[in-house]
Amino acid sequence: MTLSPHIQPPEIETIIFDYLADVLFYISVEPGQKFRFVSVNQSFLSVTGLEKSQVVGRYIEEVIPPPSISLVIENCHRAIKEKRSTHWHEVTVYPKGTKYGDVTVVPVFDGQGNCISLIGTVHDVTPLKEADQLATSQLHNMMERISDGLVAFDRDFNYSWVNKRGAELLGKKAEDLIGKNYWVEFPEAKGTSFANAYVKAMNSQKPMEIIAEYPAWNRWFENRIYPSEDGITIFFSDITERMKKEHELLTAKKIAEAATIAKTNFLEIAAHELRNPVTGIYLMIQAILKKMGKNQVIDPSLITKLLSPAERLNRMVSDLLDLSRLEKNKVDLNLISSNMIQLIKDWIEEFQLKDPDRQITFVQPQKPAVINFDPVRIYQVFSNMMENAFKYTPKGSPIEVTLEEHSTSIRVSVIDHGEGIPKERLPLIFTPFSRGGVDIKIRHTGLGLGLAISHQIMSLHNGKIGVESEMGSGSTFYFDLPKKVDSP
Ligand code: ADP
Repeated sequence: MTLSPHIQPPEIETIIFDYLADVLFYISVEPGQKFRFVSVNQSFLSVTGLEKSQVVGRYIEEVIPPPSISLVIENCHRAIKEKRSTHWHEVTVYPKGTKYGDVTVVPVFDGQGNCISLIGTVHDVTPLKEADQLATSQLHNMMERISDGLVAFDRDFNYSWVNKRGAELLGKKAEDLIGKNYWVEFPEAKGTSFANAYVKAMNSQKPMEIIAEYPAWNRWFENRIYPSEDGITIFFSDITERMKKEHELLTAKKIAEAATIAKTNFLEIAAHELRNPVTGIYLMIQAILKKMGKNQVIDPSLITKLLSPAERLNRMVSDLLDLSRLEKNKVDLNLISSNMIQLIKDWIEEFQLKDPDRQITFVQPQKPAVINFDPVRIYQVFSNMMENAFKYTPKGSPIEVTLEEHSTSIRVSVIDHGEGIPKERLPLIFTPFSRGGVDIKIRHTGLGLGLAISHQIMSLHNGKIGVESEMGSGSTFYFDLPKKVDSP
């Protein structure tokens, strides 16, 4: 490169010195290692907002404000001691505002190895830093507004950030958590799937997602965990309501599916259950006709034998009709005010006559329980419970009936010690055509309508029907009748 004859080297140095975008300064090192500004470029003055007279000729501590001055002096000493350039990052508040810079100083030595001056540059990173700060503050504002909870832990599981929603979900104030330790604040979390996932994400540095129930609060949470070198950030939301709805939907779906299966099974059950009495009646009529054809005397007991299958047929058909009318709300209650205690005693007596060997006990309250109900319909409910207790328990197994009076209702329970009902069948037990397992179908007769009819009857009374059962220990069927029943 050839230089213009009009511009001498010192002038070029000045031009380069003044027109460089980076800050440049030249410091003389005086005895006692005092540092004085000898020269600074234009960028130095425009970045700091200082006049040349406020800088040149002055000791550096007169120009650079605390606390950055100590860092500058320390690094100048280091550069001289280590005889090499030194870099550091500085933040200084000048008249023109806070400045962020990447500083480099290079020591200059004379022939005897004494440092005589330092040349320094500052690369102004203020715009970058400000953009970074703006982005951080925008991110902060955004994170404060998101509907998810957010917490950040440092590597020791101290809270470094808790957003507003996060604090709400944790039931604490954000400012009370920042700086505190997770294991101290939530000791009950140790060993939970959440805590295990946090530790795993922190160690593996791999993001994780987890949906689980937090046992201490009986609530479900969804967590998305993002690890970084500084710790982990967790976005979390309370999904208890969603899980409840999903569970309800699943149960409803299971019930609906079971009802469909039950209806399909009904054809099979009905065909089987109806065919037996019909076959019995048919064979007996044939026998009677045969005897009549031979002009033989017909034994009246033969005709009496027809009664039992006919009654069974009649009962099944009327159950079907009954259920269909109840489901269509075509049944009116005939409400009568009666003493429930006396009625139950009469009903138990009836069942005792059917099976005198069976021990049936009745636990009753002291005072009469006079309430308004339809005795015919409530008998239907009670007798179905009693018949089932007979049907699904071994012969001779005792049955207990209790009547409890509560403030707004009375509860009648029929307790047996039979085979019990599997847990998964309990929600289906009151749906029509829901019969027990295959072996029950073989061992016992019935259309599986009794409890469904009872359920409808109790709804008409604004009452409730329920069951508690344990396999192998027995079942308790109960119905609750409100003390005051209004006509539906
Ligand atoms: P059914 O007795 O005609 O089948 P229910 O509606 O009265 O019809 O009963 C439905 C099902 O509930 C029965 O098939 C049986 O599996 C079960 N169940 C009812 N009561 C009892 C009981 N006391 N012990 C065991 N299982 C019972």
